[in-house]
Amino acid sequence: MIITIDGPVATGKSTIAKKLAQAVGYIYYDTGAMYRAVAYAALQKKIDVNDPKALDELLKDFDFRIKFNRGERGYYLNGQDITDAIRKEEVSNFASKVSAIPQVREKLVSLQRQLAQGLNAVFEGRDMGTVVFPNANLKIFLTGRDDIRAKRRFDELRGKYPEETKDLTQEQVLKDLHERDEYDMNRQYSPLKKAEDAFEIDTSDLTIDEIVFKILECRDLAAQAAKKKKQ
Ligand code: C5P
Repeated sequence: MIITIDGPVATGKSTIAKKLAQAVGYIYYDTGAMYRAVAYAALQKKIDVNDPKALDELLKDFDFRIKFNRGERGYYLNGQDITDAIRKEEVSNFASKVSAIPQVREKLVSLQRQLAQGLNAVFEGRDMGTVVFPNANLKIFLTGRDDIRAKRRFDELRGKYPEETKDLTQEQVLKDLHERDEYDMNRQYSPLKKAEDAFEIDTSDLTIDEIVFKILECRDLAAQAAKKKKQ
C-alpha cells in the first residue's frame, strides 16, 4: 500500500508523513531530501547543471542512502553525512532549480519507484500522487496559509541555525517560500499540483495529530471507494 503526500513548502509534509507512518506502521520517504542531495552535490562540485554531460556524471555517482541512528534518520551521499547541510537555504533554493531538469527527475523518479517495491510506505514530495505513484491507494494534498507557513519555516530555520539566521526576517522567508512554490508550480516537467483524486487538507489551524486523524479518515473513504469500484 502506498500513501502519497504532496503540497507546497512548509505545509508540514515531512512531520505529518513521519507521524502518519508511525501510526500505521509504514516506512516513510521524504523525496525532497533526494532533490536537495543533488543540489548539494552540484554546489559542492561546482557543476554547471545546464551541462548535460556534467550532470550525467554527477547522477551516475549519486549514491543516496538513509541510515537510522537511535530512531533518527540520517541522509548520506556517497558515504558523507549530509543530513543538516541539505536543509540550508542556499540548498533549498537551488534544489528547486535542479528539480526542474528532466534528467534529474528521471533518475530520482526511478529510484523512488525502486524504493517502493513491495513496501507499505508513505511518500512525501511534490509529484508523488501525480507522476511517481499515479495508482497510489491514498493521495493527500496539503495546503496552508502564507503567514502560518512562513512562521513555521522561520521558526525551524532560527531553531536549527541560530547564528546564520541572525538577520533573517519572516518577510524574507515568505519571499523565498513564494519563489520556490512559483518555480515548482510552473515548471514544465512534473509541476507541483494536486492529483485529481487527492484529498486536500488545509493544515493552517490544525495540530499534527488532528491532521493525521483526518488522513486516516480519508484512508477509510478511499478504501470504501476502491471497494465500490471493484463491485
Ligand atoms: O520538500 P522539500 O522542500 O525538501 O523539497 C525541496 C525541493 O525539491 C522542492 O522545492 C522541489 O523543487 C523539489 N522536489 C520536487 N519533487 C519532489 C520533492 C521535492 O521537485 N517530489
